[in-house]
Amino acid sequence: MSKRLTTSAGTPVPTNETSATAGPRGPVLLEDYQLIEKLAHQNRERIPERVVHAKGWGAQGTFTVTHDISQYTCAKLFSKVGNSCDILSRWSTVAGEQGAADAERDVRGFSVKFYTEEGNWDMVGNNTPIFFIRDAYKFPDFIRTQKRHPKTNLRSPEAMFDFWAGQPESVHQVTILMSDRGIPQNPMHMHGYGSHTFSMWNDKGERFWVKFHFRCQQPIKNYTNEQAEKIVGETRESYQEDLYNAIDEGNFPKWELNIQVMPEEQAAELDFNPFDLTKVWSHKDFPLIPVGMLEFNKNPDNYFQMIENAAFSPSNKVPGIGFSPDKMLQGRVFAYADAHRYRLGTHYEALPANAPKCPVHTYHKDGSMRFFPQQTGHPDAYYEPNQYEESAKADPSVMEPPLKISGDADRYAQEDKDADYVQPRALYKEVLGDDERKRLHLNMARAMAPVSDSVRDRWYAVLERVHPDYLAGVKKAASDLESGNIDDYPGIPVTGDTPVRAAE
Ligand code: NDP
Repeated sequence: MSKRLTTSAGTPVPTNETSATAGPRGPVLLEDYQLIEKLAHQNRERIPERVVHAKGWGAQGTFTVTHDISQYTCAKLFSKVGNSCDILSRWSTVAGEQGAADAERDVRGFSVKFYTEEGNWDMVGNNTPIFFIRDAYKFPDFIRTQKRHPKTNLRSPEAMFDFWAGQPESVHQVTILMSDRGIPQNPMHMHGYGSHTFSMWNDKGERFWVKFHFRCQQPIKNYTNEQAEKIVGETRESYQEDLYNAIDEGNFPKWELNIQVMPEEQAAELDFNPFDLTKVWSHKDFPLIPVGMLEFNKNPDNYFQMIENAAFSPSNKVPGIGFSPDKMLQGRVFAYADAHRYRLGTHYEALPANAPKCPVHTYHKDGSMRFFPQQTGHPDAYYEPNQYEESAKADPSVMEPPLKISGDADRYAQEDKDADYVQPRALYKEVLGDDERKRLHLNMARAMAPVSDSVRDRWYAVLERVHPDYLAGVKKAASDLESGNIDDYPGIPVTGDTPVRAAE
């Protein structure tokens, strides 16, 4: 039997199709409140889209600890093998608006919320282990170059390469973006990275610097520009379709959580800054340590409720896991929570997607969305400290060990600019094979085709410092593109289990 339709105040509604009018052909009566409510609600169905990472796809699942890392962290989640918790993930493109096509060349966001018994732990990373810049001061300018030009209202390669040429630290990330991994086939075929350096402390109070890696358990699969163009012509929603259908059919995507670990004191002895978001930690020096498995096995029942309303912030951490002096992380700890206060409202953490699955006791008081009861433990305790024994009190046992910091307060640019070229060089010369290098050259030449000579020359100088072969390759691809002579550039081999729509 169907349910009885009501207003949002719960009163029964006689019709959902016919306005109340003065006579059969007369004007509508203002007293038809159901009509007004229906139209007014529709006007409010949109919330501001995220300034970055507006287009996304998400799923729910479970995280299970498979290896003991209690020597590094006292976080309860990792206290024993077999512990598990619910998780929520959102993957996204960076630049595209909400209606943008999925299979576009862009970095992908990779966010995970772990609902632990000690509160929510959010990992707000990307499918790349690094980022374009290392100082949050540059973030609004960088994002502006990725978005629309104020006059043309079009994306501007001129602005992108102008900015990157002035920030050579970006060449590492731009190289990844223009490589095969710049267009994953869908979110299920890419690695994820916490990207920043975080910290852990154990029950002896020892601190370790930590990088988080989500190792994809499905094969890594990417598209060439040509393959992606064909897909976007067929469907703009290829990621949503692939992800939703895979989970719906019981093919649950998995990632293995790994960490790289560095004892606190070692950071001072390295020849690079381990808190610089434009740098990785080499796997040889800091091998991956397996921790646990993430499995995504549930499509949200309501996308808007669970994914659009999801608010991830690196400020959400649990005792035993901490921040680091990474300047970008420090900026994001403020900026992400603040973005959610603006986008979703004051009490956004009480929404179902964000509500912790453990008791919450806070003295935050009124404001929009105050739809939950008092959480202070006593009705008269709306301030703290107070006289009420049962009221919520801070717990000094979860205090982070002190971090020794010294130095003059100042604004420090990076000391050794050569360091910006070492890791992109290793990626270009040692990690990428011949064919992928060729595709990288062509992708970059294509992306730069509309760019002015002066911007091109400045970016070419950056490529030359990475490696003369890199510059020569991009120059050759630019001239091959101009003469239409690109038949020799290899495609990405299509493997047997690649979706049919990936055919050349
Ligand atoms: P390794 O050879 O141990 O690791 C190379 C890493 O690069 C692998 O994780 C590999 O992924 C990944 N990779 C392969 N192709 C690409 C691509 N097109 N874009 C991005 N990543 C790719 O070397 P090192 O740890 O010594 O690092 C060498 C260079 O590799 C670094 O300078 C950095 O540019 C890059 N890199 C390093 C990572 C790290 O955390 N150490 C992570 C990712 C990249 P897979 O395992 O799937 O083959």
